[in-house]
Amino acid sequence: MSSMKYISRRRFLTGSGAALLALGSGSVGLFHGAVARGAEGRGFETGVSYFGSRDPEHVKRDMEDIIRHHCTYVVHTFSEADYHFYSEAMREVVRISKDAGLTVYIDPWGVGGVFGGEAFSRFVMEHPGETQRLADGTPLPAACINRPTFREFMDGWIDTAVETGADVLFWDEPHFYIPRAVWRGEQGENEWACRCDRCRELFRIQYGEEMPELMTDEVVAFRDRSIVDFFTNASARGGAAGLKNAVVMLPQESHLTGVSSWDLIAAIDTVDILSLIHI
Ligand SMILES: [Zn+2]
Repeated sequence: MSSMKYISRRRFLTGSGAALLALGSGSVGLFHGAVARGAEGRGFETGVSYFGSRDPEHVKRDMEDIIRHHCTYVVHTFSEADYHFYSEAMREVVRISKDAGLTVYIDPWGVGGVFGGEAFSRFVMEHPGETQRLADGTPLPAACINRPTFREFMDGWIDTAVETGADVLFWDEPHFYIPRAVWRGEQGENEWACRCDRCRELFRIQYGEEMPELMTDEVVAFRDRSIVDFFTNASARGGAAGLKNAVVMLPQESHLTGVSSWDLIAAIDTVDILSLIHI
Protein backbone atom coordinates (compact mmCIF):
# COMPACT_ATOMS: atom_id res chain seq x y z
CA MET A 1 0.00 0.00 0.00
CA SER A 2 1.45 3.39 -0.90
CA SER A 3 1.96 6.12 1.65
CA MET A 4 -0.68 8.18 -0.13
CA LYS A 5 -3.14 5.42 0.47
CA TYR A 6 -2.14 5.32 4.14
CA ILE A 7 -2.86 9.02 4.41
CA SER A 8 -6.20 8.87 2.70
CA ARG A 9 -7.27 5.99 4.95
CA ARG A 10 -6.13 7.95 8.01
CA ARG A 11 -8.16 10.94 6.89
CA PHE A 12 -11.12 8.72 6.17
CA LEU A 13 -10.99 7.02 9.55
CA THR A 14 -10.58 10.21 11.54
CA GLY A 15 -12.70 12.54 9.50
CA SER A 16 -15.72 10.60 8.47
CA GLY A 17 -17.83 10.64 11.59
CA ALA A 18 -20.92 11.46 9.62
CA ALA A 19 -20.36 8.62 7.22
CA LEU A 20 -19.65 6.20 10.05
CA LEU A 21 -22.75 7.39 11.82
CA ALA A 22 -24.75 6.73 8.71
CA LEU A 23 -23.34 3.23 8.65
CA GLY A 24 -24.15 2.85 12.29
CA SER A 25 -20.64 1.72 12.98
CA GLY A 26 -18.90 4.21 15.13
CA SER A 27 -17.67 7.67 15.78
CA VAL A 28 -14.86 10.09 16.00
CA GLY A 29 -13.41 9.85 19.46
CA LEU A 30 -14.06 12.28 22.20
CA PHE A 31 -12.49 10.76 25.23
CA HIS A 32 -11.54 11.05 28.87
CA GLY A 33 -14.11 13.41 30.23
CA ALA A 34 -15.25 14.82 26.96
CA VAL A 35 -18.33 16.96 27.27
CA ALA A 36 -21.01 15.85 24.96
CA ARG A 37 -22.40 18.56 22.83
CA GLY A 38 -23.63 16.59 19.91
CA ALA A 39 -26.99 16.51 21.44
CA GLU A 40 -28.75 17.35 18.50
CA GLY A 41 -26.86 14.62 16.90
CA ARG A 42 -26.44 15.65 13.37
CA GLY A 43 -23.15 14.61 11.93
CA PHE A 44 -21.16 13.10 14.75
CA GLU A 45 -21.44 11.06 17.88
CA THR A 46 -20.36 12.03 21.36
CA GLY A 47 -19.20 9.95 24.25
CA VAL A 48 -17.61 9.84 27.63
CA SER A 49 -15.42 7.38 29.48
CA TYR A 50 -16.67 5.65 32.63
CA PHE A 51 -14.21 4.46 35.26
CA GLY A 52 -16.29 4.05 38.31
CA SER A 53 -18.96 1.85 39.75
CA ARG A 54 -19.71 -1.78 39.05
CA ASP A 55 -22.93 -1.55 41.06
CA PRO A 56 -25.79 -2.11 38.59
CA GLU A 57 -28.19 0.35 40.19
CA HIS A 58 -25.55 3.06 40.35
CA VAL A 59 -24.45 2.32 36.78
CA LYS A 60 -28.02 2.53 35.55
CA ARG A 61 -28.46 5.99 37.04
CA ASP A 62 -25.13 7.11 35.58
CA MET A 63 -25.92 5.79 32.11
CA GLU A 64 -29.27 7.56 32.14
CA ASP A 65 -27.47 10.74 33.18
CA ILE A 66 -24.97 10.26 30.34
CA ILE A 67 -27.87 9.92 27.93
CA ARG A 68 -29.45 13.06 29.36
CA HIS A 69 -26.19 14.82 28.54
CA HIS A 70 -26.68 13.77 24.95
CA CYS A 71 -23.97 11.16 24.61
CA THR A 72 -24.40 8.38 22.11
CA TYR A 73 -21.60 6.14 23.36
CA VAL A 74 -19.71 5.27 26.52
CA VAL A 75 -16.16 3.97 26.97
CA HIS A 76 -16.09 1.38 29.74
CA THR A 77 -12.70 0.65 31.22
CA PHE A 78 -11.97 -3.06 31.52
CA SER A 79 -8.78 -3.32 33.53
CA GLU A 80 -6.97 -6.44 34.62
CA ALA A 81 -8.83 -6.22 37.94
CA ASP A 82 -12.13 -6.19 36.01
CA TYR A 83 -10.90 -9.05 33.84
CA HIS A 84 -9.95 -11.21 36.82
CA PHE A 85 -12.73 -10.34 39.26
CA TYR A 86 -15.59 -8.43 37.64
CA SER A 87 -16.16 -9.85 34.17
CA GLU A 88 -19.66 -10.96 35.14
CA ALA A 89 -20.41 -7.53 36.58
CA MET A 90 -19.07 -5.97 33.38
CA ARG A 91 -21.51 -8.00 31.31
CA GLU A 92 -24.25 -6.42 33.39
CA VAL A 93 -22.70 -2.96 33.05
CA VAL A 94 -22.58 -3.34 29.27
CA ARG A 95 -26.16 -4.64 29.14
CA ILE A 96 -27.41 -1.70 31.19
CA SER A 97 -25.51 0.73 28.95
CA LYS A 98 -26.90 -0.76 25.76
CA ASP A 99 -30.40 -0.91 27.16
CA ALA A 100 -30.06 2.80 27.91
CA GLY A 101 -29.33 3.34 24.22
CA LEU A 102 -25.55 3.78 24.29
CA THR A 103 -23.01 2.21 21.99
CA VAL A 104 -20.41 0.55 24.22
CA TYR A 105 -16.67 0.84 23.74
CA ILE A 106 -14.53 -1.38 25.97
CA ASP A 107 -11.00 -0.35 26.90
CA PRO A 108 -7.97 -2.45 28.05
CA TRP A 109 -7.28 0.20 30.65
CA GLY A 110 -3.68 -0.08 31.79
CA VAL A 111 -3.57 -3.75 30.80
CA GLY A 112 -0.02 -5.04 30.89
CA GLY A 113 1.22 -1.49 31.35
CA VAL A 114 1.00 -1.40 27.56
CA PHE A 115 -2.19 0.64 27.27
CA GLY A 116 -3.16 4.00 28.69
CA GLY A 117 -4.65 4.21 32.15
CA GLU A 118 -3.72 4.37 35.79
CA ALA A 119 -4.60 0.76 36.61
CA PHE A 120 -1.74 -1.46 37.73
CA SER A 121 -0.93 -4.71 35.98
CA ARG A 122 -1.20 -8.08 37.68
CA PHE A 123 0.31 -9.66 34.57
CA VAL A 124 3.52 -7.74 35.18
CA MET A 125 3.66 -8.89 38.81
CA GLU A 126 2.99 -12.51 37.89
CA HIS A 127 5.32 -12.60 34.90
CA PRO A 128 8.43 -10.58 35.70
CA GLY A 129 10.33 -12.50 33.03
CA GLU A 130 7.91 -11.36 30.33
CA THR A 131 8.37 -7.65 30.86
CA GLN A 132 10.13 -5.03 28.81
CA ARG A 133 13.75 -4.08 29.33
CA LEU A 134 15.51 -0.79 28.82
CA ALA A 135 18.38 -0.93 26.38
CA ASP A 136 20.77 -1.37 29.34
CA GLY A 137 18.77 -4.35 30.61
CA THR A 138 16.83 -2.62 33.40
CA PRO A 139 13.49 -4.45 33.93
CA LEU A 140 10.37 -2.34 33.45
CA PRO A 141 6.80 -2.50 34.79
CA ALA A 142 5.24 -3.23 31.41
CA ALA A 143 4.69 -6.43 29.46
CA CYS A 144 6.59 -6.90 26.21
CA ILE A 145 4.17 -6.93 23.28
CA ASN A 146 6.49 -9.22 21.33
CA ARG A 147 6.31 -12.05 23.86
CA PRO A 148 3.90 -14.92 23.15
CA THR A 149 2.89 -15.14 26.82
CA PHE A 150 1.50 -11.61 26.80
CA ARG A 151 -0.14 -12.10 23.42
CA GLU A 152 -1.90 -15.19 24.79
CA PHE A 153 -3.02 -13.19 27.79
CA MET A 154 -4.41 -10.52 25.48
CA ASP A 155 -6.30 -13.19 23.53
CA GLY A 156 -8.02 -14.09 26.80
CA TRP A 157 -8.75 -10.45 27.55
CA ILE A 158 -10.22 -9.95 24.08
CA ASP A 159 -12.41 -13.05 24.34
CA THR A 160 -13.72 -11.93 27.73
CA ALA A 161 -14.26 -8.39 26.45
CA VAL A 162 -16.25 -9.83 23.55
CA GLU A 163 -18.37 -11.81 26.00
CA THR A 164 -19.41 -8.62 27.76
CA GLY A 165 -21.45 -7.75 24.68
CA ALA A 166 -19.58 -4.52 23.93
CA ASP A 167 -19.75 -3.07 20.42
CA VAL A 168 -16.28 -1.64 19.98
CA LEU A 169 -12.83 -2.59 21.26
CA PHE A 170 -11.18 0.68 22.18
CA TRP A 171 -7.41 0.24 21.91
CA ASP A 172 -6.15 2.92 24.21
CA GLU A 173 -2.70 4.38 23.52
CA PRO A 174 -0.67 1.21 22.89
CA HIS A 175 3.01 1.98 23.38
CA PHE A 176 6.36 0.69 24.47
CA TYR A 177 7.37 1.77 27.97
CA ILE A 178 8.02 5.51 28.07
CA PRO A 179 10.73 6.58 30.54
CA ARG A 180 9.76 9.72 32.45
CA ALA A 181 12.82 11.44 31.00
CA VAL A 182 11.13 11.35 27.59
CA TRP A 183 8.38 13.67 28.80
CA ARG A 184 11.01 16.07 30.15
CA GLY A 185 12.96 15.96 26.91
CA GLU A 186 15.96 14.59 28.81
CA GLN A 187 16.04 11.05 27.51
CA GLY A 188 19.38 9.31 27.84
CA GLU A 189 20.59 7.41 24.82
CA ASN A 190 19.93 4.06 26.50
CA GLU A 191 16.51 5.02 27.83
CA TRP A 192 14.21 3.18 25.49
CA ALA A 193 12.49 -0.21 25.37
CA CYS A 194 12.28 -2.93 24.55
CA ARG A 195 15.56 -4.80 24.39
CA CYS A 196 14.49 -7.99 26.11
CA ASP A 197 15.83 -11.32 24.90
CA ARG A 198 12.75 -11.87 22.72
CA CYS A 199 13.06 -8.47 21.03
CA ARG A 200 16.78 -9.00 20.54
CA GLU A 201 16.07 -12.37 18.93
CA LEU A 202 13.44 -10.89 16.60
CA PHE A 203 15.73 -8.00 15.69
CA ARG A 204 18.53 -10.44 14.86
CA ILE A 205 16.18 -12.39 12.59
CA GLN A 206 15.00 -9.23 10.83
CA TYR A 207 18.35 -7.46 10.47
CA GLY A 208 20.95 -10.21 10.76
CA GLU A 209 22.81 -8.34 13.50
CA GLU A 210 22.68 -7.63 17.22
CA MET A 211 20.14 -5.13 18.43
CA PRO A 212 22.05 -1.96 19.26
CA GLU A 213 21.78 -0.16 22.58
CA LEU A 214 21.22 3.14 20.82
CA MET A 215 17.91 3.98 19.23
CA THR A 216 18.94 3.78 15.61
CA ASP A 217 16.62 4.09 12.62
CA GLU A 218 16.48 0.28 12.57
CA VAL A 219 15.35 0.19 16.19
CA VAL A 220 12.66 2.79 15.48
CA ALA A 221 11.45 0.72 12.53
CA PHE A 222 11.53 -2.44 14.67
CA ARG A 223 9.44 -0.77 17.37
CA ASP A 224 6.97 0.54 14.78
CA ARG A 225 6.66 -2.91 13.25
CA SER A 226 6.20 -4.52 16.67
CA ILE A 227 3.28 -2.24 17.59
CA VAL A 228 1.65 -2.69 14.20
CA ASP A 229 2.05 -6.48 14.36
CA PHE A 230 0.71 -6.68 17.90
CA PHE A 231 -2.23 -4.50 17.07
CA THR A 232 -2.95 -6.24 13.76
CA ASN A 233 -3.30 -9.55 15.61
CA ALA A 234 -5.37 -8.13 18.46
CA SER A 235 -7.75 -6.21 16.23
CA ALA A 236 -8.19 -9.18 13.90
CA ARG A 237 -9.30 -11.34 16.82
CA GLY A 238 -11.82 -8.74 17.96
CA GLY A 239 -12.98 -8.11 14.41
CA ALA A 240 -13.51 -11.81 13.78
CA ALA A 241 -15.79 -11.86 16.81
CA GLY A 242 -17.90 -9.11 15.27
CA LEU A 243 -16.64 -6.07 17.16
CA LYS A 244 -15.36 -2.86 15.64
CA ASN A 245 -11.83 -1.78 16.46
CA ALA A 246 -11.12 1.79 17.51
CA VAL A 247 -7.64 3.02 18.33
CA VAL A 248 -6.32 6.16 19.91
CA MET A 249 -2.61 6.92 20.04
CA LEU A 250 -0.85 9.17 22.54
CA PRO A 251 -1.11 12.77 21.35
CA GLN A 252 2.45 13.13 20.08
CA GLU A 253 3.04 11.60 16.67
CA SER A 254 6.47 10.41 17.69
CA HIS A 255 8.57 7.26 17.69
CA LEU A 256 9.29 8.00 21.37
CA THR A 257 5.69 7.67 22.53
CA GLY A 258 4.06 5.43 19.94
CA VAL A 259 4.79 4.89 16.29
CA SER A 260 6.78 7.24 14.09
CA SER A 261 3.75 7.83 11.86
CA TRP A 262 0.07 7.32 12.61
CA ASP A 263 -0.31 6.34 8.99
CA LEU A 264 1.09 2.95 10.01
CA ILE A 265 -1.92 2.42 12.28
CA ALA A 266 -4.39 3.81 9.77
CA ALA A 267 -3.13 1.30 7.22
CA ILE A 268 -4.23 -1.69 9.29
CA ASP A 269 -7.31 -3.14 7.62
CA THR A 270 -9.00 -4.12 10.86
CA VAL A 271 -8.91 -0.57 12.26
CA ASP A 272 -12.42 0.84 11.88
CA ILE A 273 -12.11 4.04 13.89
CA LEU A 274 -8.98 6.12 14.42
CA SER A 275 -8.99 8.80 17.08
CA LEU A 276 -6.09 11.24 16.95
CA ILE A 277 -5.50 14.07 19.35
CA HIS A 278 -3.10 16.82 18.40
CA ILE A 279 -1.69 18.97 21.16
ZN1 LIG B 1 10.77 -7.11 24.37
